[in-house]
Amino acid sequence: MEEKLLLLIKLQECDSQLVKLSAKKKKLPEDIEKLDKEFLSFKEEIEKNKIKYNELKSRHTESENKIKRFNEGIVKTKERLLEVKNNKEYQAMLKEIETAEKSRSDVETEIISILEELDKFSVLVKKDEETLNQSRNKYEQEKKTIENDLNSIDADISEWEKKRIELSKNIDEDILAKYEKIKKRNKGVGVISVWKSVCNGCHMNIPPQLYNELQKSNQLLSCPNCDRIIYFQDMEKHN
Ligand SMILES: [Zn+2]
Repeated sequence: MEEKLLLLIKLQECDSQLVKLSAKKKKLPEDIEKLDKEFLSFKEEIEKNKIKYNELKSRHTESENKIKRFNEGIVKTKERLLEVKNNKEYQAMLKEIETAEKSRSDVETEIISILEELDKFSVLVKKDEETLNQSRNKYEQEKKTIENDLNSIDADISEWEKKRIELSKNIDEDILAKYEKIKKRNKGVGVISVWKSVCNGCHMNIPPQLYNELQKSNQLLSCPNCDRIIYFQDMEKHN
């Protein structure tokens, strides 16, 4: 194959790689964002039991405080009871004590059921924490892999750009300009292979005469349909 065509093919490879890399550079941060979101919503979901557990705990503390207040009230009323001389007042205080003791007993019953719930939820919370840890490890590993990928992209890009500049130096200006023009019009592909009479850019058939010429000629030829610079490539030999 002719030298100028070989150079164009190599240039095309650089450009295609650069397109791929810049697409990747755009996509990877989106992947990271998606991963973050997924983990966060998983975490929120799995921490629902913990929130319930904490609610139960504060309800437990509240109830214990209520008991304390009832006890203090009962003690005070009993002290006052000793100083009362009026029978009506005495009866009222006894009633007050009775009511307080009944309320205290209700709260004690409530505490028992809270403690049972707490037991149940503490088992769930422990399990959830293990699940969350596993999922966090997986998430952090995946994120690290993407971040490493992302970090190496800039180096890859500048390597292909360097290669591109070196190649461009050896390509005639008019050929380069033609390539750029065609490339711009054809989704970033200015040079393409032809095999079995089919242009691999537009997938149309090349006329037989042109196909023959392509296999022998040293001229830069173009696909009559998509205008890309074409070259013959034996796909069976290459693959
Ligand atoms: Zn074509």
